[in-house]
Amino acid sequence: MSITQTPNVKSFETRLFINGKFVEASDGGKFDLISPATGERFTQVSEATEDDTNAAVAAAKAAFPSWSALSPSGRGAYLKKLAPFILEAKDELAELEALSMGRPVSKYFEAELSADYLSYYAEVGIQALGTSSLNTPGFVNMTMRQPFGVVGAIIPWNVPVMFLIGKSAPALMAGNTIVVKSSEKAPLTSAKVATLIEKVGFPPGVINIISGHGHISGNVLSHHMDIRVISFTGSGRTGRLIQAASAKSNLKNVILELGGKSPAIIFEDANIDKAVEDTKHSVQWNSGQVCMANSRIYVHVSIAPTFIEKFQKAFVVESGDPLLASVNHGPQADEMQYKQVQAYIDQGMKDGKMIMGAEASKHTNGFFVQPTVFVDTPENSRIMKEEIFGPVAVINTFKDEDEVVAKANDTEFGLYASVYTKDVSRALRMAKKLESGNVGVNCTSPTGALDMPFGGYKASGVGREGWTVSMDNYLETKSVYISVDDA
Ligand code: NAD
Repeated sequence: MSITQTPNVKSFETRLFINGKFVEASDGGKFDLISPATGERFTQVSEATEDDTNAAVAAAKAAFPSWSALSPSGRGAYLKKLAPFILEAKDELAELEALSMGRPVSKYFEAELSADYLSYYAEVGIQALGTSSLNTPGFVNMTMRQPFGVVGAIIPWNVPVMFLIGKSAPALMAGNTIVVKSSEKAPLTSAKVATLIEKVGFPPGVINIISGHGHISGNVLSHHMDIRVISFTGSGRTGRLIQAASAKSNLKNVILELGGKSPAIIFEDANIDKAVEDTKHSVQWNSGQVCMANSRIYVHVSIAPTFIEKFQKAFVVESGDPLLASVNHGPQADEMQYKQVQAYIDQGMKDGKMIMGAEASKHTNGFFVQPTVFVDTPENSRIMKEEIFGPVAVINTFKDEDEVVAKANDTEFGLYASVYTKDVSRALRMAKKLESGNVGVNCTSPTGALDMPFGGYKASGVGREGWTVSMDNYLETKSVYISVDDA
């Protein structure tokens, strides 16, 4: 069956948003967007050049003095105005994402979440407070919290609007201005948000949103001498390049949210039905293209046959055109992702035992991957060690706590781990022992909480993001020593 798409959205923004204006790339360059559901090109998007990227940074730099001089409520007023516009644009944003990276419209949640982010951050600028100290005789000392200046943000394609807003809102409320580079795989929703920013009337240059490939505009941003902080979400490979670019240029602060190979551990006393449903959702949502997906599932040997049988029954999807409300499983984001996932599946068939997923997709076009399950896979095989980023689960067994902790931690990643057990002491022992920035107890990813810091141990990242911590990422601390004549 061949998929043909008929979106409701007929026209959309594809240009760069620099200094409050929409412009084509300075050399007229564009790149193709291919629908991953059909494999066909459906539009072209401006490719920011080195000059365009420099122009965006220059605009942000020029806008910084007056933006940072506004009161927190003055800055917050713009964010407050943007929130309802994003909510109103929900259906369009959902369609644009479905078209460009294949997420089913039935699974779109980013508009509500982004509006919540904006409403929250709009109120918290006033929390950028320093401290004072009387601890040094003859002195009253204080700290001041100040914005860095120009922030750069480089975002991935899997949850683009959430990352765009999640990085911009705290950076702006701290008084910085920003240049955001969207992913070449999903640039349309960022460009749509830029149209809403224009509608709100943000001062020119405060937020600049550019599209293009990482090795061009991303590379300029990460090396730029006028960018003082860069916040990146994406792969470890790119994260390392950005860290190195910072070291080579101006040692800008770098926040990295990277990949994962998250273990879910199911003990014999767990609620098996809940564990099955949660772990299946974790690895199927967004077609498995989630940094924290529990792609390694460890089940106690005594319940493994039951768990595996139930997991296979549950791992059933309605795949198809992501524009249709009935579909809950879209294609992989593009041909490259599809080929990468297929290569891992081929490797898994050599290393482990595939018990689900061999059948061909019912779709004759598009980049669809069937839900796939491997069992009995050696711990050192590539599909146990590397991020697959597809709807592929590997289920292995364990006999005791020490064994499973060793297996779960035997990875360079450390983003999310989960444990299912009714034994509270065991759950907390595991939470302490697991080398992971996030631990779910009787829940798994993508479960999180807006007031909890999110980030990775080990090579899953540097720094934390979240409502209670993100503003700190964008504020410098200055110590001021005031000699006081006590006489
Ligand atoms: P990616 O690293 O390929 O691309 C991410 C962004 O970096 C894109 O905008 C891309 O254009 C840009 N980029 C690429 N090369 C660059 C370079 N040389 N210099 C500067 N920028 C460059 O990652 P992706 O494929 O978009 O996203 C998938 C990855 O992101 C996965 O590894 C996933 O685990 C990770 N991810 C992590 C989190 C998290 O919060 N930890 C969330 C989502 C995704």
